[in-house]
Amino acid sequence: MKLLGRVLSEILNGLAPSLCAACDEPASGAFCEACGQNFQKPPERLVAGVPLLIAGAYAPPLSTAILRFKYQGRAELSRSLSRLVAPALGTLGLPADAVLVPVPLHPKRLATRGYNQAALLAQELGRSSGLSCRPRLLARARETERQVGKARDARLTNAADAFLVRQRGARHAVVVDDVVTTGATVRACAQALARGGIELCAVVALAEAFGD
Ligand SMILES: [Zn+2]
Repeated sequence: MKLLGRVLSEILNGLAPSLCAACDEPASGAFCEACGQNFQKPPERLVAGVPLLIAGAYAPPLSTAILRFKYQGRAELSRSLSRLVAPALGTLGLPADAVLVPVPLHPKRLATRGYNQAALLAQELGRSSGLSCRPRLLARARETERQVGKARDARLTNAADAFLVRQRGARHAVVVDDVVTTGATVRACAQALARGGIELCAVVALAEAFGD
């Protein structure tokens, strides 16, 4: 029954006309023409010493779409949003054995939200790139306090040692998150991966935001 439901939703997704991730108007890509006009492409940069691949700056229409994706139960937006970064993923020259590793969500927040947005993105990127997705490779080592509203320094120390490697067997990893802010979370993931003998090759996120 579960499988049937998944097959049906795949079929329905395939048949449904593409809608703008920010406003639900018809769209040929992730955004309709009106929203797409405001879309800002980001400059290239490094985070934790590796390339940071993002779709754009954390501004409308992308930020609108991400808020809907994360906080309004619109899990299906992972599909159109992942397409914003999927083509560039293929240009990074990643090792063939690189695995996609989403930043784990705290179990309490996972229970409230019902899904980890980073894991959904990683799954979609795995489908389009052929890289395997390892949603349970990293785990939260301890509860990190909500980072929203914290001073930058407090946030930086807060994230250190927050993660640990729970599964072995991978050598290269691409960390996937929805939004990168200070990069503290990504650096904490990189540290955990390094302790587990896994090399971080790149970071993929939908957007980059500076401060809150
Ligand atoms: Zn729109």
